[in-house]
Amino acid sequence: MLKLNQIWDNILLETESKVSTLQYDLYINQLQPVGIHNDRLYLLAETRALKNIIDKNYKDIIKKCTALVFPTILDVEIITDGDLDNIGKVDKEVDLPVSGNYVSITDDKAVFVAQYSFDNFVVGKSNEYANAVAHAVAENKEIKYNPVFLWGGVGLGKTHLMHAIGNSLQRNFPEKKIKYVTCDQFVNEFIESLHDTANPNAMKNFRNKYRKLDVLMMDDVQFLANKEGTQEEMFHTFNELYLAEKQIILSSDRPPKEIKIEERLKTRFATGVIADIQPPDLETRIAILQKKCNARGYSLNIKVLSLIAEKITNNIREMEGMLHRIISYSTLVGGDPNDMNIVNDALRDYADSSNDIITIDQIVKTTCDYFGVRKEDIIGKKKNKEIVVPRQVCIYLICDILGQSVPLVSIGEYFGGRDHTTVMHARDKISEECKNNDITAARVKDIRDKIYNR
Ligand code: ADP
Ligand code: MG
Repeated sequence: MLKLNQIWDNILLETESKVSTLQYDLYINQLQPVGIHNDRLYLLAETRALKNIIDKNYKDIIKKCTALVFPTILDVEIITDGDLDNIGKVDKEVDLPVSGNYVSITDDKAVFVAQYSFDNFVVGKSNEYANAVAHAVAENKEIKYNPVFLWGGVGLGKTHLMHAIGNSLQRNFPEKKIKYVTCDQFVNEFIESLHDTANPNAMKNFRNKYRKLDVLMMDDVQFLANKEGTQEEMFHTFNELYLAEKQIILSSDRPPKEIKIEERLKTRFATGVIADIQPPDLETRIAILQKKCNARGYSLNIKVLSLIAEKITNNIREMEGMLHRIISYSTLVGGDPNDMNIVNDALRDYADSSNDIITIDQIVKTTCDYFGVRKEDIIGKKKNKEIVVPRQVCIYLICDILGQSVPLVSIGEYFGGRDHTTVMHARDKISEECKNNDITAARVKDIRDKIYNR
């Protein structure tokens, strides 16, 4: 059985080489797979405009690429939100014959983003130590530093460095068994194995998978906070790998001592090398932008790059967002991306939309105000209906408004360390109720309007 994402990722791999990077980033990679029904693959476009562009210019390419990898998928249809109800029940997992073009992205072989390489990583004062440690790990057969703990703020290159290590290790030591996992994935897999009553070997398989590696990389370990069961599992995984002298590489948004996990795990995390990544200085930021432009074939002059680098100082992902914004805006209006009028127009839009960024806190506050309950209560343990309903509505709104930018595990953490399955349950329950119960639907709409100040 293939999961929908495996199918779509494979089609994307095929399409990527057939269109320009810009077309790929701006349009094709924006689509989300919805499901398969009657040999037809449904893809969701966020806006009508995107649907129109795809239908007109890229649908045939997507169809051809799909046929190349999955000969039994006969058609592709681009839909928007409004069509979701009309397409009926779709399959999210299917048994498909694949062609020779299929690339197996299995659990056993770690897949690293090719662009996240050492060559594409710009080194400055703020990250030179982390970069040196990463190189040492990637190039040496014997283990010098264990574990390696990389930490730094969001969007500063931790994931990039981990993938760079992975790419390089895979090339230098193809025999090594390497696994890269996000902490969220590890937590989810652990919980799923725990509850998999149909398979008595589920836990054993899970343990074998993680304890028989040569290299384990776990990204964003701060999400182990409040997950006592998973922490315990991680503790044993860690010990087994460490004692067998296998390489462990961890990342986090804060140093080990500040993660809310049990003491013995903190001590383990801190026994090797701890390397931090700080926000880069202006020169490095401009160099990073230049590198991104080269990689993507954008020609922007230094004046525009400096402007971006001066506006955004502590998050490279946001800097890239601004870069894409300028490129996509200039493409849409058919102007020159180096024309300062165009740049300013693009960034005016950007400032407006970033003012609109909605946070979990804001959604929680608005929901609490609406129902007249206290935040401590809805994130607390109370189980009476007066609290449970606002809690579920709030969780539903967070999932719905913030989407995949906030992992379910972190929502659970926010709500007093609840399990991600509890979050899913609340989300699905209110989502169902909105369809069947006018009062719930009206309440949810009211709160949503307040959140958006409508
Ligand atoms: P984190 O995991 O720390 O949140 P990422 O590794 O996802 O951050 O980095 C965010 C983006 O910034 C990625 O596109 C990455 O390629 C880019 N980036 C970060 N640091 C650098 C760097 N030193 N050189 C080039 N690109 C970088
Ligand atoms: Mg990351």
